[in-house]
Amino acid sequence: MTEFEVIERYFYRPMTRKDVLAGPGDDAALLKVASGNTLAITVDTLVESIHFPPETSPFDIGYKAAAVNLSDLAAMGASPCWMTLALTLPQIEENWLAAFSQGFFTLLEKYQADLVGGDLTRGPLSITVQAHGMLQPNQALRRNAAKPGDKIYVSGTLGDAAAGLAGLQQKSAVSESDQHFFIHRLNRPTPRVELGLQAAGKAHAAIDISDGFIQDLQHILKQSAVGATIDLERLPFSEALKRWPIPNEKYTFALSGGDDYELILTVPPEETAFFDAIPELTCIGTITESQTLEILSSLQNNTWKLSGYQHFK
Ligand code: ADP
Ligand code: MG
Repeated sequence: MTEFEVIERYFYRPMTRKDVLAGPGDDAALLKVASGNTLAITVDTLVESIHFPPETSPFDIGYKAAAVNLSDLAAMGASPCWMTLALTLPQIEENWLAAFSQGFFTLLEKYQADLVGGDLTRGPLSITVQAHGMLQPNQALRRNAAKPGDKIYVSGTLGDAAAGLAGLQQKSAVSESDQHFFIHRLNRPTPRVELGLQAAGKAHAAIDISDGFIQDLQHILKQSAVGATIDLERLPFSEALKRWPIPNEKYTFALSGGDDYELILTVPPEETAFFDAIPELTCIGTITESQTLEILSSLQNNTWKLSGYQHFK
């Protein structure tokens, strides 16, 4: 197969959006930004063995490449529109490409985003996706917008992806079905697109958790020049992680483990009723003026490891 046949067979799909004036096939895509809207653009690269283990299935690699970018749009409160894909492959393998593109397009279809262009090169496996979204400029969820008194919410459950990775690296005493759940959370993160859209214009700050809850929360704290108090006992855990054999390790995974792709939102007091009614959200703390991060816990055995935090109590 030639490079062009590969691109046409696996990556050209009919455009579904009216705002795509020219999709793949020309020297550049032509896209129409709705009047009064602002464009949100983000790009992420996944490299084999760094961002996903080599045994990851091509479907999951494609799915995750789309998910991590959609998650960044969600964390801005943007509505996904268009994607571009730059793919570097060691060789042309049709089964791999078919599964990869299925995984990738699964999420694009779900969010009505079109793949409008890309690139294909030979080299060590690496996948770069750029995602474009639209939003009302005054509704963007900025990292620098947290205010003292804001309540801190987190979506879904934390630490599952890190548990999955730990299970791959050393055999742990978890059941097969729990490990299956953790690996699913690692390989098929749920981008919180709907939540980001609900939060736009209501929450103050947001970030998606890619590098660990503490580290990502600290980006908000630093850019907003505020601190936070987190109640360790309120961290949301999946049933599977509650069963993790080393009890305190689940806190390490939840606080420092990456790849959850959940959202952290900071919400002004007058909007908490709205966010309390969203089932996937848990309120776990408060933004403070102190410029320190304080973690409250009554647990006796504080043996979990933390990275990147300031204060621990
Ligand atoms: P050029 O040499 O002008 O950069 P390419 O040969 O790289 O063009 O690509 C030809 C067309 O195919 C372009 O419109 C490009 O956006 C599209 N394309 C290339 N690779 C991909 C891909 N992986 N997915 C989707 N479209 C792609
Ligand atoms: Mg090119």
